[in-house]
Amino acid sequence: MGEFDLIRRYFARPNSAAASVSVGIGDDCAVLQPTPGMQLCVSSDMLVEGRHCLSTVDPVRLGHKSLAVNLSDLAACGAKPLGFTLALSLPHVDEAWLAGFAQGLFALADAHGCPLVGGDTTRGPLNICITVFGEVPTGQALLRSGARAGDELWVSGTVGDARLALEAFRGSLALTTDAFDAARLRMEQPTPRVGLGLALRGIATSAIDISDGLLGDLGHVLRASGVGARIDTHIAINLIAINCSQICQKSISEDTNLLDFVLAGGDDYELAFTAPAHQHAAVRAAGVSSGTRITRIGNITAASGVQLVDANGQARPDLYASFDHFA
Ligand code: ADP
Ligand code: MG
Repeated sequence: MGEFDLIRRYFARPNSAAASVSVGIGDDCAVLQPTPGMQLCVSSDMLVEGRHCLSTVDPVRLGHKSLAVNLSDLAACGAKPLGFTLALSLPHVDEAWLAGFAQGLFALADAHGCPLVGGDTTRGPLNICITVFGEVPTGQALLRSGARAGDELWVSGTVGDARLALEAFRGSLALTTDAFDAARLRMEQPTPRVGLGLALRGIATSAIDISDGLLGDLGHVLRASGVGARIDTHIAINLIAINCSQICQKSISEDTNLLDFVLAGGDDYELAFTAPAHQHAAVRAAGVSSGTRITRIGNITAASGVQLVDANGQARPDLYASFDHFA
């Protein structure tokens, strides 16, 4: 199968024309039409086999994840998806793989009204690079730099389970079958929080999506905003869905605990965001209207750095030290 046949068979779809797409696949450029008064938000993410995904991963899930990690960046800016491009390097033409990949990719694309508008296809090591385009009302993009002392700190969904799955794959711990399947789903098929991002426009002061671990990504927000944070660990620990009884204890090393996975896990694609305390009810309403679980885990502080505080208000520096656990 030639390059053009491959594109036609798996990626060019007749009815992919949305209002925002004047010209889609087939010409030298896609031509997009953002809504007047909106700014364009653009982001790229690359998935490289061996580094970001395992060669054994189900192609349907890989198609989903390739787009999900990109939509997650739009979500973190409060942007509405307009379309995406796909640059694909394939070692060989495997039709079953392509069909599965396209199925997972388009299921998520359709769910978000985000059509594939172009790309590039070449032979080489498996490499999937997607660029997403979205729009946000001028001046309203949620940025990393907007957090202010006194703001509340929130996190969507669940955090830490994807990393738990990765460790189970690596054999450093073992999970019960049900827990492993659930954690694996979080790792292989993350949910981009696009609806929540849209609902937080004009309410949140800053946002970021958690791809490299909660503390690491929160650190980007704190530095960009010139502030610090206090995290209540007895609340944050509930962000992980899997509980201790689902982990086969003998395989867990003494210095590993679930809070490490919450704070330094990665691959979660949840949103960490800040909002003024007086917007507490509006933030809760944004969670409800977008059907997204949200948890307030702490506050933004004027003093820089992250303070981890337990239920009694005692600092937990020992846990912060374990932030490098996965380095
Ligand atoms: P060019 O020579 O201008 O780079 P190509 O021959 O690479 O164009 O691609 C032809 C058309 O197919 C273009 O519209 C391009 O955007 C689209 N295309 C190529 N690869 C993909 C892909 N993997 N997914 C979607 N569209 C693609
Ligand atoms: Mg090309």
